[in-house]
Amino acid sequence: MATFNKILHALIFFSFLILFWGCSTSGEFSGYSYDPEGVTETSDKETNPHYTRVIGVNDGSIWVSNDFPGARMNDFYQVNDSLYRVTINPERDAINNSPWYAFQIWSTQPDTIDLQLTYEHGTHRYLPKLSNDGKHWQAIDSTSFSTDTTNGTATLTLNLKKKPLWVSAQERYTADKYQQWFDSLSQKPFITPDTVGFSHNNHPIVKLNISNTDTSKPRGVMIITGRLHPPEVTGALGAETFINELSSDTELARDFRNNFEILAYPFANPDGVQQGHWRYNARGVDLNRDWEHFNQPETRAIRNDLLPLKNDSLRKVYYGIDFHSTDENLFYPINREEKTFPDDFTYQWIDSLKQEFPKYPIEVEPFPPNSPITKNWIFHTFGADAVTYEISDNAPRDSMHTVTRESARIIMKQLLEEKQKH
Ligand SMILES: [Zn+2]
Repeated sequence: MATFNKILHALIFFSFLILFWGCSTSGEFSGYSYDPEGVTETSDKETNPHYTRVIGVNDGSIWVSNDFPGARMNDFYQVNDSLYRVTINPERDAINNSPWYAFQIWSTQPDTIDLQLTYEHGTHRYLPKLSNDGKHWQAIDSTSFSTDTTNGTATLTLNLKKKPLWVSAQERYTADKYQQWFDSLSQKPFITPDTVGFSHNNHPIVKLNISNTDTSKPRGVMIITGRLHPPEVTGALGAETFINELSSDTELARDFRNNFEILAYPFANPDGVQQGHWRYNARGVDLNRDWEHFNQPETRAIRNDLLPLKNDSLRKVYYGIDFHSTDENLFYPINREEKTFPDDFTYQWIDSLKQEFPKYPIEVEPFPPNSPITKNWIFHTFGADAVTYEISDNAPRDSMHTVTRESARIIMKQLLEEKQKH
C-alpha cells in the first residue's frame, strides 16, 4: 500500500510538473517589458491628430513649422522673455518611449533663445540634430543642450536667423531619400526594384531583388527588412550601408550574388516615417508585432511576397536580418538551443565581428522565438536562422558604417561557406 501511495504521489507530482512546464512554454506572448499593453492585438487603432501648423509667437518674431514629411511638433509657446516651448505628442497615447520630433524654427531678427522640448506620454530620448538645409546634419553642441530627467524635458540654446533651422531627433531619412537610393541602386544590372504592396496611405512597399544567380540552379536566399519603426534612423543608415556592400563591385559581393538572391524590404513603414510617428504605422499598429495575424497591409505585402519561397525547390532561405535601433549596439539572435538552418550561424558571425572590432561595444541577447516579430516569422516559416540587428541611436556614424560594412562582408563569406557544405 505504501508503495502504491508513493507511486501515486510521484504520478501527481509529475503531472503537475508537466502542467506547469506546458503553461510556461505555450504561454501566449503579450509584449516585451517596454511594450504598452495590448501590443500584439494588431487590428486598426484610432490615432491622435497631428495638425500641420506654422506658429508665430512674441508678436510674430519667432516661428516654428511642421509642414514637411517626417515632421512632428504639436504646439509652440513663449514661456518668458527668452524661454520658448514646443510640445511633442505621440500618434497614440499607449506607446514605447521613442519620442520623435522634427520641426523648423526661425526668427525675423537674429536672436538667441532657449527652447524647451516637452513630451506627452514620453520622456526626452534623442540628442537633437541641427541642419541649415535639411540634408546635412550635426548633433547639437553639448554646451547648448541640457536635459531634466525629473520631468523628462530637454532645453536647447539656439541662434536663430531668418533662414529656418531644422531641429530633429535624428537626421531626417524620409521617402524622398529612400527613392534616391533605390533609383541609384536600380542602375546596377543585377538589382531589380519591385513594388510588392501599398501602405494604408498608398506608399509603395518596395522590394530590392539583388542577384546574379543562374535561375535554373539551386541558390540561397537572404531576407532583409528595415524601418518597421519610424524613429530608428541608425538602423536605416545601417541597412543602407549593409545593402550597398552586398551590391558593391568586390569579388566577395560578386561571388555572393552569383550564389544568393537578396530580397530586401528596407522601408517597411513609409506612413509612419512620413507622419513623424514614434512607433506605429498609419493605423496605430506596431508592425513588428504583426507577424502572426498580419492585420496590416505592410506586413501582409512582405509576407505574401516571401511565402512562395516555401514551395520553391531551387531557392532555400539561409538567413534573415531585420534592422532596428535602440540605445546600444545589440543583436537579438534566436536562443542557441533552437535548431536553425544554418545552425548557430548568428553566434558565429558575431564572434568574428567582435574579434575584428574588440573595442566596439556590441551586446548579444538571445531570445526565444515566441513573439510575432519579423525574425521569428522567418525562422518559423523557413527554418532559417535570423537576427534582429539593432544599432545604437548614438552610434558615431563613421564607425557605425565601418562596422556594418564589415558585418556584411563576414555574413557573405560565412554564408558562402555554408552553401558549400550543402
Ligand atoms: Zn525597432
